[in-house]
Amino acid sequence: MKAKRIAVRDQTSRWGSCSTTGVLSFSWRLVLAPHYVLDYVAAHEVAHLAEMNHGPGFWALVKRTCPEFQCAKTWLQVYGPDLHRYGAAHVTP
Ligand SMILES: [Zn+2]
Repeated sequence: MKAKRIAVRDQTSRWGSCSTTGVLSFSWRLVLAPHYVLDYVAAHEVAHLAEMNHGPGFWALVKRTCPEFQCAKTWLQVYGPDLHRYGAAHVTP
């Protein structure tokens, strides 16, 4: 399947998403992350066009597109919550 549309959203719950109709969405906050993190999220969502799950086949695909994905995943775990504080519509103390 090919990506039909790419949307940038102000989504706080996730970094990117892929719909069954082939629409890829990404959070604009990813521009604040290192480029390899952006590469990983893009690779992740594009891989979902082929595999709509998080199985071994899916991760093999992600690894092929983005070999440093493990590093990017760790980055998001550590710094992701900080990134979500930027431009948040409602701030929780
Ligand atoms: Zn996923």
